[in-house]
Amino acid sequence: MVEIKVDTKIYDKENPTWCPGCGDYGVLLALKRAAAILKLDPFKTVLVTGIGCSSKINSYFYSYGIHTIHGRAASVAQGIKLANPDLEVIVAGGDGDAFAIGTEHLVHMARRNPDIAYIVMDNQIYGLTKGQVSPTSEEGFVSITTPYGSFEKPVNGPLLALAAGATFIARGFAGDPISLTDIIVEGIKHRGFALIDVFSPCVTWNKINTYDWYKQHTYRLENHDPGDLKKAYEILSDEERFGLGIIYRKEKHTLEEKLPRKKAVNPFDPLQIQKSITELYEEFL
Ligand code: SF4
Repeated sequence: MVEIKVDTKIYDKENPTWCPGCGDYGVLLALKRAAAILKLDPFKTVLVTGIGCSSKINSYFYSYGIHTIHGRAASVAQGIKLANPDLEVIVAGGDGDAFAIGTEHLVHMARRNPDIAYIVMDNQIYGLTKGQVSPTSEEGFVSITTPYGSFEKPVNGPLLALAAGATFIARGFAGDPISLTDIIVEGIKHRGFALIDVFSPCVTWNKINTYDWYKQHTYRLENHDPGDLKKAYEILSDEERFGLGIIYRKEKHTLEEKLPRKKAVNPFDPLQIQKSITELYEEFL
């Protein structure tokens, strides 16, 4: 890992309104750095988000963006990618969005393998709605909705995505935006679905999973072969210590490559649009 000086100014938009110290600042910084390294064209990039503190990220990143509804960012992103495969489509959102209400979309996205990177900002709590238990909260986690501690085992999102057929799985930490930049660069470059799960502390509501907690419970993967599926399962099944880095990577045809490509339609030509709609009707009737 080498710290590269990059100018991220072209991706600046509004100033974030996240709480001071929120992990999401680190993710935004890493995303901007990754975009600058990859020279992403803001006019050919779409950042699709769901609902939650983390999903506000597309208000702070200069590109096209859609703030969708809770749990549906993945499905909207797939629609965008299929309609225009030339766009760089990135999804970002929280653990609730990805691993609770959006789980079914995530699982099917993983098995379809569209060329989309999905950055999950995982803080193990619902922050925007003021501190309820989330699908990734630990067993026994006390919150305003679990006063006796959570009775449920947390959802292991990356393991679920791997089992569903995801071709790129990585884990990062918002407290280390330089390493996270490298991970996001590789995730965006990956041809296929890339799940990047990022530990992003909520400093306001989660007093357990703090920056120090993550430092104590994570380690950097060294000499790991991301092509080793068995090892990837092993790393992701560890519930005590969490490996950071690229955990799994595999080449496979993307969803867009398998589908026949429609001729591009000029959006300013009503005759072309009408002809294209008529053709689509005929195809499906
Ligand atoms: S409530 Fe938590 S997740 Fe939301 S902005 Fe504040 S620190 Fe970040």
